[in-house]
Parts: sequence; C-alpha cells; structure tokens
Amino acid sequence: MGEGDTRGSLRSQVEALSGQSIAACYQCGNCSSGCPMGEWMDALPNQLIRRLQLGLEDTARFESPWVCASCFACGVRCPKGIDVPRVMEALRVVGLRSGEDHVGPDALEAKRLAGLPQIALVAHMRKETG
Ligand code: SF4
Ligand code: SF4
Repeated sequence: MGEGDTRGSLRSQVEALSGQSIAACYQCGNCSSGCPMGEWMDALPNQLIRRLQLGLEDTARFESPWVCASCFACGVRCPKGIDVPRVMEALRVVGLRSGEDHVGPDALEAKRLAGLPQIALVAHMRKETG
C-alpha cells in the first residue's frame, strides 16, 4: 500500500501523532515478548502494529492501548528503533478524539483488578485525566 493510500487513515494519524514509521516494523515480536501487560491485552503491541499495516481501521477501538502501562520496555527492545509506547499513546489519542469509551477501573473484574500492578492503575488514571 503506498503512502497516498493511507492519507487520512488510522495508520497515517498514528504516524503523524507518534512520529513513528508503522512500515518499519518487521513483526519480530520483541516488543510483545517483553510487555508486562500483554496478558491483559486484547491484541499484543506487534499485533496492533500489524493491524495498522493492514489498514484495519477498528484498531483504535482495542483495549490494549488503555491497558498499556507506558513502561517503555517495548520501545527499548525494538531492533528497528520504533518507539512503540508512542504508538500506543497515539492510538489512545485517536480513541479520545473520536469520543470512544475506554476502559475504566469499574469495568474491570475485581479479580483482575486485584492482580494488576499498582503502576498500571496509576498510569491508567493519568491517561483518563491527562
Ligand atoms: S509500554 Fe505498554 S505496550 Fe510497551 S511494554 Fe510497556 S505496557 Fe507493554
Ligand atoms: S519489536 Fe519493533 S520491529 Fe519487532 S514487532 Fe515490535 S515494533 Fe515491530
């Protein structure tokens, strides 16, 4: 798919907001294998990026960007130098701008909530108020 095909697409919005090249990802999976929040995500970081590469426009509605704790482990591990946390942040911004609901603490099962690291909850609150 050429650049002209992605103008106005979710992928182009994410690239503009994050400053990252989605095409640069070659799906090695390093980002996802080091993600401490992957267990709670509905799509792993590399899967979200693959969806963007494929032009799947519903990718901003996934919960994963809201589960992301912004720990930066994925970006550090990326051999292509992609700042994956910025991609996650861009997906959150697109979601917020579209007025889509995102996950709140009251939407999480008590059992899951009890098992979440404290940093995940703090990061989540910052996103909701930021
Ligand atoms: S920044 Fe988010 S996506 Fe990246 S490793 Fe941390 S929790 Fe996972
Ligand atoms: S580590 Fe980088 S190149 Fe590998 S899948 Fe993740 S974003 Fe793509």
